[in-house]
Amino acid sequence: MVTYSSGLTDAPARPESVRRGAGLDVRAIRADFPILDQSVDGKPLVYLDSAASSQKPRQVIDAISNYYKRDHANVHRGVHELARRATEAYEASRERVARWVNATDAHEIVWTRGTSEALNLVAFSIGQARVGHGDEIVLSEMEHHSNLVPWQLLATRSGARLRYVGLTDQGQLDLDHLASLLGPRTRVVALSHVSNALGTINPVREIGTLVRAKTDAAYILDGAQGAPHLPVDVQSLGCDFYAFSGHKMCGPTGIGALWGRRALLDEMPPYQGGGEMIETVYPDHSTWAEVPHKFEAGTPNIAGAVGMAAAVEYLDRVGLAAIHEHEMTLTRLAVTLLSGVEGVRIFGPAKAEERAGVVPFVIEGTSAQDVATMLDAQAIAVRAGHHCAQLVVNRYGVSATTRASFYLYNTIEEIERFAAGVRTARDILLS
Ligand code: PMP
Repeated sequence: MVTYSSGLTDAPARPESVRRGAGLDVRAIRADFPILDQSVDGKPLVYLDSAASSQKPRQVIDAISNYYKRDHANVHRGVHELARRATEAYEASRERVARWVNATDAHEIVWTRGTSEALNLVAFSIGQARVGHGDEIVLSEMEHHSNLVPWQLLATRSGARLRYVGLTDQGQLDLDHLASLLGPRTRVVALSHVSNALGTINPVREIGTLVRAKTDAAYILDGAQGAPHLPVDVQSLGCDFYAFSGHKMCGPTGIGALWGRRALLDEMPPYQGGGEMIETVYPDHSTWAEVPHKFEAGTPNIAGAVGMAAAVEYLDRVGLAAIHEHEMTLTRLAVTLLSGVEGVRIFGPAKAEERAGVVPFVIEGTSAQDVATMLDAQAIAVRAGHHCAQLVVNRYGVSATTRASFYLYNTIEEIERFAAGVRTARDILLS
């Protein structure tokens, strides 16, 4: 955690790169997002809550709508034209998402409801296959509850032991501590790619090398905040599983994906039973369909998959490297401006390069909730609370933070309005 010096009263001059917006045509991008073009109580909406859920471009909305208008039927089972088209759309979407994360094979993508379900699937199934009494599961204090509670459930079921990597005062994983926790009993290492509560971008590739060198554990990454903001190449990251959600990356809610190494997916038992996931059913047992269908019981979220593929297409067209660059510009500006507001304490890494577009903060002497409410009164949407990461806020001695989070459609003017809004909130709350 970093406590930035307070007391600057004048906003610093904007550097040239900030004025230009670092390469993205944000005006054109905003035209793709109809929801952003609205006022709240007469003031233009400033949406700074994308880490909770991003907004959707017209291209994604249209893809879902067109699918329902033209192609919908249930997948895989039918012989008629619409069933063929729906199956084709569903499986082509899987291939698109597989290409996006550079999977070697589309069969390595399992559709889920989102990151939470993907992580529950891995915890359950790898747990059955590989984790026993006395084994160790390495997590960190930075984890979202979705990458924590499933492992607690597994530990309770199996008698395995949870080990937590501590955090530095700068909001980073303590890598020496991590190295000291890895050993012959480590069966699982599960960490976030990017922290939703601090914004920290973790050095997951280097950690992968360390995990491989010291253990034969399964290495699992929670990519809920990584996939929307950073190019993901699962082959070079060196992980075994990567979980992500459609709704955080311009796609619809209710869809996400788990990428897993084929050999591990083959080894793991199913997570849920039902239609679609079986090969043959006998009275007393069943055999399983091939991966990934083994993990996809019941009628899937076909329109969601189509929407997620459209989101990937959209992000690819804009370019994740440019998006990340733009977010760093916004983050740098937000941190600089907030540091000028007396009493503001910002959490997470000091360097913008080490932080995704997430800026959590408190104003000393006020409640995080009150600050968010004051910002809402100015039509600025942020989030307050523990952000489903209670261990993180506890680590830094607070019970909640106010969190602003940025995405490709946010502008420099919005960041300036946000900082001015924080200053107003402070003045009113502490007057
Ligand atoms: N992990 C992280 C880091 C997250 O930010 C989130 C969403 N807040 C999740 C997991 C869970 O994602 P979902 O709610 O889409 O399942």
